[in-house]
Amino acid sequence: MLKQGRERAVANRHPWIFAGAIASESGPDDAAFADLVDARGNVLASGFHSKRSQIRLRVLTFGDVALTPELIRDRITAAIARRQTFFDDDTNAARVVNAEGDDISGLVIDRYDDLAVIEIANYGVEQIKQLIVDSIDARTIFFKNDLPARKIEGLTLENNVIPSGSEETGRMGGAMDDFQAPPALPGASPTLGMTTAIRESGLRFEVDSREGQKTGFFLDQRENRRLARSLARGRRVLNLFSYSGAFGVYAAAGGATSILNVDVSEKAIALARRNHEINNFDADFVVADAFDWVRKTRDRFDLVVCDPPAFAKSRADIDRAARGYKDINLYALRLVESGGHLMTFSCSGHMSLDLFQKVIFSAAHDAGRSVAFVRRLTAGPDHPVSLYCPEGEYLKGFLLEVR
Ligand code: SAH
Repeated sequence: MLKQGRERAVANRHPWIFAGAIASESGPDDAAFADLVDARGNVLASGFHSKRSQIRLRVLTFGDVALTPELIRDRITAAIARRQTFFDDDTNAARVVNAEGDDISGLVIDRYDDLAVIEIANYGVEQIKQLIVDSIDARTIFFKNDLPARKIEGLTLENNVIPSGSEETGRMGGAMDDFQAPPALPGASPTLGMTTAIRESGLRFEVDSREGQKTGFFLDQRENRRLARSLARGRRVLNLFSYSGAFGVYAAAGGATSILNVDVSEKAIALARRNHEINNFDADFVVADAFDWVRKTRDRFDLVVCDPPAFAKSRADIDRAARGYKDINLYALRLVESGGHLMTFSCSGHMSLDLFQKVIFSAAHDAGRSVAFVRRLTAGPDHPVSLYCPEGEYLKGFLLEVR
């Protein structure tokens, strides 16, 4: 039951109902679904339930709209259908379900050719795995279960692979009231390779969903990589925090004269090397801490891409994260030749666009450079953000002209 005075939580249609807004709870603790009611017992919202999470309810429907397995299945298939335009002869990878942005809080599905990689961050969603499997059509479905939030939710951190044609068990029946958690899905098969060769914008990339970061590839940067390609002709390009080298590969395709990829992870650099090789592009590679490297190098560049990992994992980290972003951007700006560009990003959900802009201001000021914004950057359109849940807009960036 909703606490009195917390009606705004529901009126604004935000899909997260926090524990603090709830006056009392009834029913089993391990229920996958729950209804939120007011003092008179009217149903205000229904969704995924998690007893262990601060987000007690992830709302799927408001008011008296019935929450049924069909509704969830329809949302998944509609989200996938909306992505049809992303797949063509040149591109066969995209995010097909983006949590709140597709009205399915807690569920992310990335599609790499005929492999679907699923990330679930919530207890309630975990209970409908079978429904998810039934709703998508893929050669192999890989549950990448390494999100730290899963630990809090009491969920397994072991990955799980489902090859196509595997026995579908525990189909869901009628209304959510009778919902029974399906039996465990077939176990992980250690022999099954999770490496896929994808195409993006006519370029080739190796994606290792099991060993790689996130679901294997940073699909969210596709549009920004295309922008980097369009800026690269005749330019010396530095790709800081390169991971798979994807920005470098695009820059090479755009006619860059040289490309240098820097990442602290040897595995990432090995992958970046392979990705340049399979596209027949030359580039240089350095395994180094970017913070040290930018201080030491004497090289100068015409286009620098700076795409670090999320420095702020929680709200408490924001000050420290802001110092990190300022530091790396200050030194990155010093490496840009006059007339060149810096493409800089923050993928920290807790860092607002406004704060990021202030950090860039401060970095430019201390670097003593004259800098203009050319464009604001964000994740691609296969990462829609719900208007009611702006927290979904984690990736922000700027294309800066350095004079
Ligand atoms: N731009 C990439 C994604 C970058 S993810 C793309 O488009 O695919 C962030 C990367 O930063 C990871 O590969 C991680 O290994 C690397 N990283 C983290 N800390 C680092 C540091 N201190 N110095 C250099 N690289 C670092």
